[in-house]
Amino acid sequence: MSIKVAKFGGSSLADAEQFRKVRSIVEADRSRRYIVPSAPGKRHPQDHKITDLLYQCYDHVQQGLSFADIFSLIADRYLGIIRELGLNLDLAPTLEQIKNEIAAGATLDYTVSRGEYLNGLILANYLGFEFVDPATLIFFDTQGHLAIEKTQTMISKELTPKKYAVIPGFYGSTLDGRVQTFSRGGSDITGALIARGVEADLYENWTDVSGFMMADPRIVKNPKPIEQITYRELRELAYMGASVLHEEANFPVREARIPIHIKNTNRPTDPGTLIVKDNGELKRPGSITGIAGRKGFTIIAVEKTLMHSELGFGRRLLSVIENNGISFEHMPSGIDTISLVIADTQLNNKLDKVLAEIKRDCQPDAIDVFHDIALIATVGLGMAYTPGIAGRLFSALSEVNVRMIDQGSSEINIIIGVENKDFEEAVRRIYHAFVE
Ligand code: ASP
Repeated sequence: MSIKVAKFGGSSLADAEQFRKVRSIVEADRSRRYIVPSAPGKRHPQDHKITDLLYQCYDHVQQGLSFADIFSLIADRYLGIIRELGLNLDLAPTLEQIKNEIAAGATLDYTVSRGEYLNGLILANYLGFEFVDPATLIFFDTQGHLAIEKTQTMISKELTPKKYAVIPGFYGSTLDGRVQTFSRGGSDITGALIARGVEADLYENWTDVSGFMMADPRIVKNPKPIEQITYRELRELAYMGASVLHEEANFPVREARIPIHIKNTNRPTDPGTLIVKDNGELKRPGSITGIAGRKGFTIIAVEKTLMHSELGFGRRLLSVIENNGISFEHMPSGIDTISLVIADTQLNNKLDKVLAEIKRDCQPDAIDVFHDIALIATVGLGMAYTPGIAGRLFSALSEVNVRMIDQGSSEINIIIGVENKDFEEAVRRIYHAFVE
């Protein structure tokens, strides 16, 4: 039988009703053997996430304030879920113990990890699966980095003999036994590590959306879902826009060639998005996989006649921005021009200083600055080596003022720069040029 690891996010376990959905998903496929829960998330937009409340408890203790009211909200959430599910589980003593530990100055990581810990106890009881504390499986070294080899060995040794288990997300422990968490949203990483350690065939990531869409639904009406995407394509898209997965969640499963399936707990029959390793097969030639973009960039265009034959020009230019602690996104160039595309958040109020230093060190003929630029990435393996793609893209944009064009050498991504005000319109035009 194949092995699946299923991670359920906070909204998938926000209340008893969601727990019921999770159980029917788990029971529908007996190869879902290792289940990784997050802490309960929001039930409605004004609601609190349990993890956020735990952060508040810690802050209150640090400031010498009472955290009893906040802790009651937490305890009531869990006790309510247990009551509504009719479970034979007395969580009160554990809650009391955790409250005392927090009051006695437990560490931040320990405090906030309890959201997943408690949810894991409840889910294990509800599913009839064994509870396994990730503090015994996932380890961090003395520098605070994941001790990947020890972690993989322990997961494989401890979990493989168990048929079914619930392992809370978000935390592990240091080599000397203190709880340490990942960064926020880190249960995705736990799921990926478990999938790798047990050599799963599939890592399912259950959330509240049906995977990735080809474009942002706030811009394009009813965009098509992406049913399959490679890690490389995803990286290009995620870099440019919203993403469903924690960034670091990819690497353990990517290396092991385990696909990730993003699925919707509230619509389990939706196909979702399958993330796979690029197997070298070309997708449908001429197709694109997705479009993503961001606003808020500045282009600094530097011009100098015979720049291409001047030794060290590029280095001097880049040294200026490096010395100002600025990183750049793209650097399209022509014979006598180089442009630097820089996120406004990087530039802050350093622009005047940077321009003065470029003038001093590079002696350019002209420098132009374009503000309020948005970047749009059109991504797809199906674009590579396919004639006519760029033509189609640019005829779609014939009425939009395109300020920059950049195509990575991998040919799976064409990036264009437009003015912020044209951003949404440009995304819609590109989408409709390729879809239907
Ligand atoms: N509960 C943690 C957070 O809110 C981790 C997670 O949900 O993945 O960040």
